[in-house]
Amino acid sequence: MSEAMTRRRPKESSAASAEPAPPLAILFELSHRCPLQCPYCSNPLALERARGELDTAAWMRVLDEANDLGVLQVHFSGGEPTVRKDLEDLVAHAARLGLYTNLITSGVLIDRARLERLAEAGLDHLQLSIQDSDPAEADRIGGYTGGHERKMALAAWVEEIGLALTVNAPVHRHNLERLEDIIELALSLGAGRLEVAHVQYYGWGLKNRAALLPTRAQLERATKIVEAARERLKGTMVFDYVVPDYYARRPKACMGGWARQFINVTPSGQVMPCHAAETIPGLDFDNVKDRPLSEIWRESQAFTRFRGTAWMPEPCQSCDQREIDWGGCRCQALAIAGDAAATDPACARSSDHEALLALAEAESHAPAPAFAYRRFSAAD
Ligand code: SF4
Ligand code: SF4
Repeated sequence: MSEAMTRRRPKESSAASAEPAPPLAILFELSHRCPLQCPYCSNPLALERARGELDTAAWMRVLDEANDLGVLQVHFSGGEPTVRKDLEDLVAHAARLGLYTNLITSGVLIDRARLERLAEAGLDHLQLSIQDSDPAEADRIGGYTGGHERKMALAAWVEEIGLALTVNAPVHRHNLERLEDIIELALSLGAGRLEVAHVQYYGWGLKNRAALLPTRAQLERATKIVEAARERLKGTMVFDYVVPDYYARRPKACMGGWARQFINVTPSGQVMPCHAAETIPGLDFDNVKDRPLSEIWRESQAFTRFRGTAWMPEPCQSCDQREIDWGGCRCQALAIAGDAAATDPACARSSDHEALLALAEAESHAPAPAFAYRRFSAAD
C-alpha cells in the first residue's frame, strides 16, 4: 500500500479542527461471500448475503464521491471481491479517476484470463493471502481443499503479468512454527512486500481466540525471525509486521486513529471507521444509499464519536501519547473492558491491562479448541 502513500496527499488537519482532513483510503467490502472459511476472518459473525449487496451503479457512485472527497487509494476486498462480476468495471472506473487500486484476494477464484482483464482495467497492486507454507495445513486452516495450489498458480501469473504483489500471511498458533518457510515462500513468489500479521481478535478472530492466540514465547521467537529476515532481505522484500496487542505495553494507532485515515464500506453500503466497528453498541452507521460520503465522513455519529481526543477518558486525556496512538482500539476496549470508550486494555496504563495479560497467558497455554470456521449461518 505504501507506494500510493507517496502520491498527492492533502494537508493533515489538527485533531481540534472542525473539518477533518480527507481520508487516505477507502475499503470496499464488495461482498461477504468467500469460498474460504478462515477462523480469523475479520468479517462480522453475521455475514451479508448476496441479495443485500450494493449494485454496480451504487459502487461506481461511491467511487466518484470518494475521489471528490480526496481519497487516494481504493482497496477492493470482502469476503472475496472476485465473486463480483463487475470487479473489472469498478477497477477501470477507479483507475480512470486516478485512484490507486489494490485487490485484496484469497486468489482461489481468479484464472489467468481474468487477472489479465483486471490488469488491463488498471489494477495497480494485488494482495494475496496465504494461510501457511505447508499446503495441507494451509487448506485445513482456510477450510478449502486445493486452495493453496490455486494461490501458487495465481502468484506465478501475477509475476508474469508484472503486477505488484504483496503476500499477506496471518500468523497464529497453528502456523507460527513455519514462519521461516512462510517468508521463503513469499520470497519465491516474487512478493515485493510481505505482511506478517498476527491475527487480530475481532469478528471471527475473537470467536476463535482460544484456538489461535500464540504464547508469549512464540510471539518473541516470531519477532526475532521477522527482524532478522527484514535485515537480510533489505532491498528485496519489505516487511510489515503486525503484533498481537495482547502482549503489548502500548496499543497501536488502530486504523491510524479513529476516523482519521480510513473509510470502510460494507457490502450493503454501511459506512464505518473500521471493519469491526459494527460490534460497538450505540454507534449509528450511515449508508451510502442515504447520504453523500463527504457528509458521512464529516458528520456521521459513528465517525465523530471517537475522532480526535475529546472523547478520551483518563489516563489517555492527559497522556503525551494521545495524538500518537489515538487511544488504541475501540473494538478491543469493548471486547476486553466491556466499554468501547475505555482506555485500550493493551496499554499498561489501563486498569484492565493485567487482566488482559492473564487472559493471554491462560488461553495460549491451554489446549487449542477446534476452529469455528467462518461461514454463513441459517439466520444470515
Ligand atoms: S479471511 Fe479467509 S474467509 Fe475471510 S475473506 Fe479472507 S479468505 Fe475469505
Ligand atoms: S494512556 Fe491512552 S493515550 Fe496514553 S499510551 Fe495508553 S492508550 Fe495511549
